[in-house]
Amino acid sequence: MSDYNWCHGPNCHTQQTQSRVRGSGDNKVLRTRRIKVHKSSFAMDTIYSYFCNQSCLMDFIRTHLTSLLAIAPRREALETPVKVVKEKYESYRYEWNSNNEHERVPYTATKTIIKNSS
Ligand SMILES: [Zn+2]
Repeated sequence: MSDYNWCHGPNCHTQQTQSRVRGSGDNKVLRTRRIKVHKSSFAMDTIYSYFCNQSCLMDFIRTHLTSLLAIAPRREALETPVKVVKEKYESYRYEWNSNNEHERVPYTATKTIIKNSS
């Protein structure tokens, strides 16, 4: 594997930044950015080994969305079995009382806890 990847952003070479200017004299160009791949780094196989920034990543996704979805089409919803538990707990809220004072009022609240069933 090469130490560098070219950014896969389809518009990378059109962004007007100094980091993309190459060539000399009157033969200057804006060139796709080269990304150094750190072989020992945790970032070695991340998406940013192939895209210089999020803008290039999103340009790529927009340009190739139909092809990307065709790789792993989703024709029906996925489901994860869970157990739903309702739990009561003591809480409080603030209300205005008849003396026009802000008063702390306790009440029993309910929270929903979703647990993996496995
Ligand atoms: Zn790029």
